[in-house]
Amino acid sequence: MPDLLARHRAVIPNWVALYYDEPIEIVRGEGNRVYDAAGRGYLDFFAGILTNMIGYGVPEVREAVERQLASGVVHTSTLYLISGQVELAEKIARLSGIPDAKVFFTNSGTEANETALLAATCARGSDQILALRQSYHGRSFGAIAVTGNRSWKNSSYSPFNVHYLHGTDRHLAQFSDLPDADYIRVCVEDLRHVLGTAVAGNVAALIAEPIQGVGGFTMPPDGLLAAYKEVLDEQGILLISDEVQTGWGRTGSAFFGIQNHGVTPDMMTFAKGLGNGFAVGGVVARGELLDGLPAAGVSTFGGNPIAMAAANATLDYVIEHDLQANAARLGDLIIGGLREAAARLPIVSDVRGKGLMFAIELSDPATGERSPALANRFMEETRRRGLLVGKGGLYGNALRMAPPLTLTEAEAKEGLGIIVDALETMSEQAA
Ligand code: PMP
Repeated sequence: MPDLLARHRAVIPNWVALYYDEPIEIVRGEGNRVYDAAGRGYLDFFAGILTNMIGYGVPEVREAVERQLASGVVHTSTLYLISGQVELAEKIARLSGIPDAKVFFTNSGTEANETALLAATCARGSDQILALRQSYHGRSFGAIAVTGNRSWKNSSYSPFNVHYLHGTDRHLAQFSDLPDADYIRVCVEDLRHVLGTAVAGNVAALIAEPIQGVGGFTMPPDGLLAAYKEVLDEQGILLISDEVQTGWGRTGSAFFGIQNHGVTPDMMTFAKGLGNGFAVGGVVARGELLDGLPAAGVSTFGGNPIAMAAANATLDYVIEHDLQANAARLGDLIIGGLREAAARLPIVSDVRGKGLMFAIELSDPATGERSPALANRFMEETRRRGLLVGKGGLYGNALRMAPPLTLTEAEAKEGLGIIVDALETMSEQAA
C-alpha cells in the first residue's frame, strides 16, 4: 500500500494544496493543540483556517452534538421546524446590530456570499458589484467573480459586472506615504470616480472583508468602510461585510470585524468558526432583503440540526467566556511582541493584525524584495518547533496566524517564543 501522501496525490486534485515539505496528518486534538500521526504535538495557530474557533475536544460542543445524535435525527430539512435553527438565528440577528434582521443558513462561506450577492442584485435590480482588490470570497462562479486575487481566480466567467476599489493596497507607491486620513480620502474619491465613470445605472452592492483573510490579513484603516458607506448610501448601494474570518470577536476590538469601522452593514456573511469545525455558514441581513428574493430557495443541509447544535454551543461558549476580551488581550501581547522582535530582525518587513488575527511579512534583507522562500522556511522552522501557522498574501510572503479564541496566556507566550526563535535563526542565516 503506498503511503497516504502518494494516495492523496493520486486521487485529490493537485490544486488542493498541502502545507509542509512533509505534509502532516492531524489525528487528535485537545485544547489548543493537535497531534499528528507520528504522535508529535503542535500548538495550533491556524485552527483549521480559523475554523476551530474554541479549540479541540470541547465538552460543551461534543455534548450538544451527541444529544442531537442520540435523538436519531441528523437531518430533517428546512421543510420542518428546527428549534436549534430558530434559536441560532435569533442570537445572530440580535448580535448583528442590523435592524429587523433575518438569517439564512448555508454550509459554507462561498454559499453565504452567493446568497448575499443574489439578494443584493435582486433588491437593486442590478448585476453591478463593487469589491476590494486583494479580496477572497470563495470558489463558486459568483464568489470568484468578486475575488480580487489572481492566484485564486480560476475563471473570468462572471454573473456580475465587477469594479474593484482600493482600500488594502497602501503598499503601492502612489499611496505609501499617505497617513490614514489621506488614504481614506483618496480611496473615497476613487469610489466616487468609479461611480461617475465606470458603471451604468444602479449598482447593487459593495462586498468587502474587514480584514482580508486569504489576502494575508491586509486591512483598510479603521473608518474606511464607514466613509465608503456614506457614499454608497447616497445611491442606495448596499454594503455586504464578509465576516467569514473576522466574526465572533476574533478581532478583539469588535464582535464583527466591520464594527471596527463604526458602521452597520446591510448584510453580513459568516462561516468557518461558528460551528467549531461543523459545516455552517450563513447570511444575516435586513429582513426585507432576504424576504425579497423573487423565487423559492432552499439549502438542503443548511441549518441542519447537528450543525445548529454545534453552532449554538460554540457561540454560547464564546459569549459566556467573553473570548472577545481574551482575543483583545492576547492579541495585544502577541502583536506587541512581534513588533518588538521585528524592530531588530530585518527579514520581517511588516507586522499587522487585530486581536487573534495577525500576520508578518518576510523580505530579503539584502534586496528588500518580498520573499516567498523565507515564508516557506518559516513554515518549516515553526513546524519543527511545534507550532502550526498559515501562509497567504498576494505575494506569497505573508504568514498568517489565528489561534483558537480559547488561547491561554501561557500558550500565547509559547507561540510568540517559537515565532521569534524561528525568525532569529532565519535572520542569522540570512545575514
Ligand atoms: N470569505 C472569506 C473571507 C474566506 O476567507 C473564505 C474561505 N477562505 C470564504 C469566503 C469561503 O468560505 P468557504 O471556503 O467556506 O466556502
